[in-house]
Amino acid sequence: MAVETQMQDLTDEQRAICDMVRRFADEQIIPNAGRYDSEDVFPEPIVQQMKELGLFGVTIPEEYDGLGLDLTTYAMIVEQLSRGWISISGIVNTHFIGSYLLMKFGTEEQKRTYLPRMATGEIRAAFSLSEPECGSDVQAIKTTAKRVGDDYEISGQKMWVTNGLLSSLVFTLAKTDPAAEPRHTGMTCFICVKEPGASENPGLIVPPKIHKLGYKGVESTELVFDGYRTPADSILGGEQAGLGRGFSQMMDALELGRVNVAARGVGIAQRALELALRYSQQRKAFGKEIAQHQAIQFKLADMATQVDAARLLTLRAARLKDAGERSDIEAGMAKLFASEAGRYCVEESLRIHGGYGYSKEYEVERLYRDAPLLLIGEGTSEIQRMVIGRKLLARHAVR
Ligand SMILES: Cc1cc2nc3c(=O)[nH]c(=O)nc-3n(C[C@H](O)[C@H](O)[C@H](O)COP(=O)(O)OP(=O)(O)OC[C@H]3O[C@@H](n4cnc5c(N)ncnc54)[C@H](O)[C@@H]3O)c2cc1C
Repeated sequence: MAVETQMQDLTDEQRAICDMVRRFADEQIIPNAGRYDSEDVFPEPIVQQMKELGLFGVTIPEEYDGLGLDLTTYAMIVEQLSRGWISISGIVNTHFIGSYLLMKFGTEEQKRTYLPRMATGEIRAAFSLSEPECGSDVQAIKTTAKRVGDDYEISGQKMWVTNGLLSSLVFTLAKTDPAAEPRHTGMTCFICVKEPGASENPGLIVPPKIHKLGYKGVESTELVFDGYRTPADSILGGEQAGLGRGFSQMMDALELGRVNVAARGVGIAQRALELALRYSQQRKAFGKEIAQHQAIQFKLADMATQVDAARLLTLRAARLKDAGERSDIEAGMAKLFASEAGRYCVEESLRIHGGYGYSKEYEVERLYRDAPLLLIGEGTSEIQRMVIGRKLLARHAVR
């Protein structure tokens, strides 16, 4: 069931936007995704159209030239983009995290400098926590930033930076006090500016993109900082307020990002279901459409249930956040459930497609390679369970 028909209480604006983005996915993304995926090419024409639709400024306030929409509407947009192709939602995702970091923690000058150009998509943002030796354990990062005159000098290697080459801004977490205890109090977030598309910037090299199982088209890169100079006022929130606050700023943004990843899980699960519904009513076996075999109907029923549950959890978390209520556990649950639902539905859809599901001729083959990313990015399922468990105990402490 489409999100608009499932949610009775959407505003007219939400319905119209959702409908518009679904049409965009049907007409522009889905028919072209297979080609971009097989060539692993950045989908520039699609991104240009997204800029024209204002999709890079969805959550940026109107005073900074964005659309000023809430997280719930954003989640519905992301579902549609991801239903089209998960890589398209990946192009927007890190940009959304970057704009949230600026909106919540940036100085007025930082907001005025970057947000209006981010809203149009003229400049795009990435964020960089992970390193070759650590991803889940963010506090183990080794990249350092040392004060040198009026600047900071960043050195270290970052890993898995989505939009690492074509972005202009990279929100980078570095250690400004490697001896700090607890470790997270010595970490700072820098707004690193670079030339989009350039593999060499002063003090910063972007090596060739990493070759991946799926999630093609959008580049994931390493970033090698070697004496990269950035002014002290590039610290997110300014040096006085932002020094040593990077870890908590990033964790805050990732909490919001979980709703975003959950919406991507709903989108890919929904698409897998649509493909299964169509194929199972076309393919015949043992004298009837395979959809008439009860075993296939059970699969369809389980998939549809997973999709709806994932969507409801996602929209609940988004609405709580929009209402200013606590949503940490709910966002974690949505991310955990929806990313697992994505993987589950894609695998069931592939099974329903039989041998053809294993062929590159069929869209579900791409979905099968794309879906696992959601189990890993922005906190693996194991880490998600740890966070939910810890917060549950804190919320329901007996003593
Ligand atoms: C395509 C892609 C894009 C990405 N984009 C970005 C990006 O834009 N920016 C960025 O900063 N990062 C990005 N990442 C990195 C991603 O966030 C990390 O890969 C993820 O956090 C997991 O870290 P890791 O790969 O180092 O795995 P590890 O942390 O080494 O984990 C390996 C395994 O051990 C498990 N594990 C670890 N600790 C525990 C524990 N305490 N208890 C139980 N199990 C545990 C994990 O769940 C996992 O199964 C991206 C990754 C991918 C694949």
